[in-house]
Amino acid sequence: MRVIVTGGAGFIGSALVRYLVGERGWDVLNVDKLTYAANLQSLTSVRDRTNYRFVQADICDAAAINRIFADFRPDGIMHLAAESHVDRSISSSAEFITTNILGTHVLLEAARKYWGELAPGQREAFRFLHVSTDEVYGSLDDGAFFTESTAYDPRSPYSASKASSDHLVSAWRETYGLPTLITNCSNNYGPYHFPEKLIPLIILNALEKKPLPVYGDGGNVRDWLYVEDHVKALTAVLERGRVGETYNVGGRAPTRNLSVVECICDLVDAHSPSEEPRRKLITFVPDRPGHDRRYAIDPTKIETELGWRAQQTFDTGIAATVKWYFDNAWWWKPLRDNVYSGARLGLLENPAPAPRSLVENPV
Ligand code: NAD
Repeated sequence: MRVIVTGGAGFIGSALVRYLVGERGWDVLNVDKLTYAANLQSLTSVRDRTNYRFVQADICDAAAINRIFADFRPDGIMHLAAESHVDRSISSSAEFITTNILGTHVLLEAARKYWGELAPGQREAFRFLHVSTDEVYGSLDDGAFFTESTAYDPRSPYSASKASSDHLVSAWRETYGLPTLITNCSNNYGPYHFPEKLIPLIILNALEKKPLPVYGDGGNVRDWLYVEDHVKALTAVLERGRVGETYNVGGRAPTRNLSVVECICDLVDAHSPSEEPRRKLITFVPDRPGHDRRYAIDPTKIETELGWRAQQTFDTGIAATVKWYFDNAWWWKPLRDNVYSGARLGLLENPAPAPRSLVENPV
């Protein structure tokens, strides 16, 4: 297989590239703008492989994207490039609308043009996989689960932009026959996760004995999925998914934020004992505006149709993740020192300044 991966220098994209290039031997072209969230250091294990290529490009740049399709001639595209952090979308929504909606539109049009000119056999085989989030479904009551037929009800600028892009992808399938697939997955965690998101932020603050911020009462529930399980799900959907379908991807691990933080405290204490248990560092802070209370995925469809199932439980995945951060300060230290050191984001008053990328701010 020969695929374009957009956003391949980000958290999930880099895990996908490492898997496809390193374990599956696919030819991969990573197309990434290198925003603050990108880190090419996440790809050191594959960057010299002959089946890996990188091009720095903005998915909103139609001329560049058309050229990339024409030159690389892929069998498919896995589209992950996005602005992805809900807190940042609250204080600065414009980039979310531009990249997540307009950028997806550029990719759909470029893919349609390229696909329309393929020979019949290649046209049949071509796939456009759009990677989206369960946040498009809104917030759940206790005991309920998102399925592929749950109505869309996005609540944040981020989830509204992702919902819009999902609708564009479905429309390109219905109107033009483009062979698209959509995945909506729950919150990912694992190695190489940019330390603005809950799990890496808490691990690093705990390691450095800094306050551990918990939004609201800590009762919000997220359904955690280990990133290496997620990339196998994406690959299964690209290879065997039914065209035009949506697949929800989840790890069957709905957990309250406070329990996640407590679990990390105990693991960090075990790795690096301290006089005061890390749980003492937990600090409740004002809630995120419009914070969805509960997400939980029913992954029955992908499990039964495609035979995929998350291999990691939350306990095994979080233990592996904490260990990875202990062993890989070379990766996260430059980010903490130069790009984002943990300041509160997403407050309506007092928004944080726009981040600079490692490219603009090299170590
Ligand atoms: P990330 O923020 O870590 O990485 C995004 C990548 O996209 C970065 O490398 C960035 O440079 C690139 N990018 C941003 N704007 C671009 C543009 N205009 N052109 C080209 N590249 C651009 O994101 P992630 O957590 O890896 O998420 C990947 C995808 O998965 C996103 O589409 C996100 O919505 C979706 N998703 C993420 C999660 C999660 O828990 N992280 C859950 C569900 C869905």
